[in-house]
Amino acid sequence: MTISPLPTSGAELSDLDRRHLIHPFQRGDITDRIVMVRGSGAEVWDADGNEYLDATGGGNWHSHVGHGRRELGEVAAAQMAELEYFTNFLEFSNEKAIRLATRLASLAPENINRIFFTSGGSEGVDTAFKAARLYHGRRGEPDRTWILARHFAYHGATYGSGTATGFPPMHVGIGPNLPHVEKLMPPYVYRSEFFGGQDPTDFLVAELEATIERIGAGNIAAMIGEPVMAGGGVLTPPADYWPRVREVLTRNGILLIADEVVTAYGRLGAWFDSPGRGMQPDMIVTAKGIASGYAALGATLFSDEVAELFAGGPGLFHGYTFSAHPVSCAIALENFAIMEREGLHENALRIGEWFGEELAPARDLDTVGDVRVAGAMAALEIVSDRDSRTAMGPLEVEQVAFAVRRNHGVIVRPYGNMLVVAPPLVFTREQVRRASLALIDTVAQLRVDGQLAAA
Ligand code: PLP
Repeated sequence: MTISPLPTSGAELSDLDRRHLIHPFQRGDITDRIVMVRGSGAEVWDADGNEYLDATGGGNWHSHVGHGRRELGEVAAAQMAELEYFTNFLEFSNEKAIRLATRLASLAPENINRIFFTSGGSEGVDTAFKAARLYHGRRGEPDRTWILARHFAYHGATYGSGTATGFPPMHVGIGPNLPHVEKLMPPYVYRSEFFGGQDPTDFLVAELEATIERIGAGNIAAMIGEPVMAGGGVLTPPADYWPRVREVLTRNGILLIADEVVTAYGRLGAWFDSPGRGMQPDMIVTAKGIASGYAALGATLFSDEVAELFAGGPGLFHGYTFSAHPVSCAIALENFAIMEREGLHENALRIGEWFGEELAPARDLDTVGDVRVAGAMAALEIVSDRDSRTAMGPLEVEQVAFAVRRNHGVIVRPYGNMLVVAPPLVFTREQVRRASLALIDTVAQLRVDGQLAAA
């Protein structure tokens, strides 16, 4: 049998891609394909040899140590040669999972010491929801099934996490039978119209209390929230938001799940962001930066109080085949070592300061309503009217992201009416400048009617 050689040109690969691959979140009318073949640091190359500056951390805010790290490949190869995988179900374990769990327990707040591994963030969120319901059920409160989440928050794409996600398009295929999830307003301070003239935290705490009153505290298992909302548009809450929310939840016996899928492992300068914001979480869901994209891995961390309930009796009847995969865990351990060796958490904070400076001129543009920076992530809020803060349409914003890539070779992400950057934590000052100039130059050409002047 003759095997025909694989095509190598971008055009041939794109053609096969269009015929055989289904892309997550892609509209059917987009036929462009960019086939990435190589990466190094914060740069990636496509099959036609074009170079791009990756201002998105591998596209999904996950690449902390950057692309092309040979040492991570070597660690993976060594682990595969020794033991590629054996299940973590039941009484079976492996050395790398134990070492990583021990490491995570040492980095997490003092009361958080038990880890459940997943293959990504959505599985981690589902794990936390099930655990919250089980926790209450085993304490004699089986009616506590409701989950509180927030509009504009992204928590994943599985049935449970997708339901908690606050973008209506995510509910296609889930609704109309949405499980018990109630959405609260987010701390979206720029949109003061949400708060009816009140202090945002006062409004949001009152809304939370009214929601608990309406559903009944005895019916609510947990609230989920990102310390800083990432996909929602880099929304940093007021300093008193999480402490006051936590107080209300504690008073009502409701658990708090910190979704740190984006914010953990240094993106905001610390291993975990939730403790510093006064969340005192009962569970922390993480993924993405834990292995910087070199393996599909997530970790959900449990407080001693929640985990204790799984110690006896039926335990936690839940698991994924590739939970605690030793190759992924070995990569994560080395990924952490690189971050420490190279001071990448400190660099994340520097990246934020540089973006703050370099993106400042964007505030003068007619279509920029707000510029927000938190650690190594930033968002430009694109509007068609600055006074009324009318959001620009997502298609108009998407064409800006395309133009930034086409004209400047810089990859940024459109999210609704936002343009977002969340680069690898190895980004340099020069790279921050290049990405910022590309954004400003292109957004400057966007007219308030949504037309891109140079298109
Ligand atoms: N939670 C947050 C905050 C996320 O940003 C994401 C993914 O972007 C998820 C959960 C879901 O993670 P995954 O895509 O790994 O399932």
